[in-house]
Amino acid sequence: SAKSSHLPSEPEEPEYDPVTSNLPELPGYVQYLLVGGGTASQTCAEEILKNDPGAKILIITEEEYRPYRRPPLSKYLWNSDDKNLINNLKYAFGPDEYPIFYKSASSYSPPSLITIDPPTPVLSLSTGHRVKEIDSENKYVTLANGWEIFFDKCLLATGGKPGSLKLFSDDVIKPFVSTYRSAKDFLTLVEGVREKDVLLVGGGFLGSELAVSLAQKKSRGQCGRVLQVYPEAGNMGLVFPKDLSRWATEKVKQEGVEVYPGNYVESVYKYRGRIHAVTSEGDELVVDKVVLAVGILPCTELAESGNFEVDTKYGGYKVNQEMQIRSDIWAAGDVACFYDPLLGNRRVEHHDHATVSGKIAGENMSRSGARVSYDHQSMFWCDIGKDIAFEAIGLCDSSLPVVSFWRTNGYAKPEISKTDSYGKGLVFYLKEGIISGIICMNLKNRISAGRDILSERYTDEDFEEVVRKMKLFED
Ligand code: FAD
Ligand code: NAD
Ligand code: NAD
Repeated sequence: SAKSSHLPSEPEEPEYDPVTSNLPELPGYVQYLLVGGGTASQTCAEEILKNDPGAKILIITEEEYRPYRRPPLSKYLWNSDDKNLINNLKYAFGPDEYPIFYKSASSYSPPSLITIDPPTPVLSLSTGHRVKEIDSENKYVTLANGWEIFFDKCLLATGGKPGSLKLFSDDVIKPFVSTYRSAKDFLTLVEGVREKDVLLVGGGFLGSELAVSLAQKKSRGQCGRVLQVYPEAGNMGLVFPKDLSRWATEKVKQEGVEVYPGNYVESVYKYRGRIHAVTSEGDELVVDKVVLAVGILPCTELAESGNFEVDTKYGGYKVNQEMQIRSDIWAAGDVACFYDPLLGNRRVEHHDHATVSGKIAGENMSRSGARVSYDHQSMFWCDIGKDIAFEAIGLCDSSLPVVSFWRTNGYAKPEISKTDSYGKGLVFYLKEGIISGIICMNLKNRISAGRDILSERYTDEDFEEVVRKMKLFED
């Protein structure tokens, strides 16, 4: 299936657990300090270990878990109701079980081992700690508890935090409302949905994936009604062109989600223990829980103390092409605003970008003389229920002009945007007449061809060749 290429391969063997064991005292100095315990920090650490055999690395994260992948949190983790899998943050594909974690707990050392002599490499992890400030001149950070840690080199990979809506912040309403980003959020939500009606606010990646996952749980009798409200005309309306978004919305409905497109929540109140959300169209949605999926805000709290520039248009720390903010300080993943020579300034909130940008930062941090630029054109994928699985590359923004080609039943030649059958197809996004983004809908293994098409700057006059190169009608 389209999903299998994203499966991890690491087996799980827990021994030393830095989360549950008593944390040894934090060091006051470390060679490599990686702030944030997500994908970008993990791949950065792995790259450093490759290049610097005596590396002493400390990953410091606010979360209580060691680094893990987020994509399963809105998809695969919901496929099973098996408590054993759920509580261990594992998911099943066929006969196999996979953990969301990158590495076993025993792959990380206690921070006290940072002081061990070279050449022994140490990858250590400290959870439950927030870095509050950075002194980029004297090269140390200050944690929320006041502890200071000096560093030689530092990565900021703090990702983003979910946005919230003021309307839902009232003290009476708040206990019924949550955001969703972490493993902890999954465990909390999955515990609380049985026989509960849930309203998802937001029609983007998270809102759409999670709505369908909850609806599938409902079909197994493990969740109440699932409602979804968002301002766009259809699901994924910020990404998909109108007609495709309308089709996707029908699919989301067929999965059992009650969808309210073109709607804002205008007022909220609590009555007899339930939440009433009144929409701009006048619908009154009555639920037990509200989950906000209204985008993220990049975590750039260290900008002020560090004197770092935050991009005014895209948010995020401005980095150069080597993912560097300034001497000895880098940023990667969701929190980095970088210059893509092909597509201009960008900030990308997807897994592959976090993986590769973290690795590039790690290489520049640890390989002597390295000045590697981040020129990987990252991809992303998205699964919304059983009929929508796509992979994509570049700028996929519904405000750009779009041309799409669909493999309709019985058709052997491309037909531009005139079909109701959206099963398998290609969506091309044009920026100033140049193909700058491609969605491969229900088509696998097309990303590397798509990457070539973007880099060769094909135009809207080349579609015949482009569609052939993308093998629309094969497999
Ligand atoms: P994050 O993963 O956000 O990690 C940042 C870490 O830093 C967090 O642990 C945070 O607690 C910590 N932190 C923040 N501030 C501080 C601080 N001051 N001190 C200490 N620690 C701090 N992308 C895809 O391409 N495909 C998918 O299918 C997909 N599915 C997703 C599903 C979900 C539910 C979510 C939430 C995201 C999904 N994404 C997907 C996006 C992808 O997961 C992100 O782009 C990726 O996680 C970004 O990695 P990161 O390392 O930059 O940041
Ligand atoms: P430490 O002495 O191991 O390291 C911190 C020192 O490292 C800093 O003074 C800094 O000048 C130095 N340093 C900076 N860059 C360096 C480099 N490239 N190579 C080597 N050293 C470098 O750790 P510490 O935490 O200062 O520990 C000293 C004592 O103070 C310990 O007993 C500790 O428990 C205690 N303490 C520390 C803190 C803190 O915030 N770090 C707070 C309270 C108590
Ligand atoms: P998103 O940007 O994809 O969608 C945001 C949604 O919230 C949109 O529908 C938007 O209209 C709505 N919204 C924004 N402000 C609003 C407001 N004031 N009132 C009402 N609605 C409002 O973000 P998301 O869906 O929340 O996803 C969160 C993060 O997780 C993103 O970084 C996303 O890329 C990532 N994610 C990615 C994938 C994937 O790549 N497959 C899957 C899940 C999550």
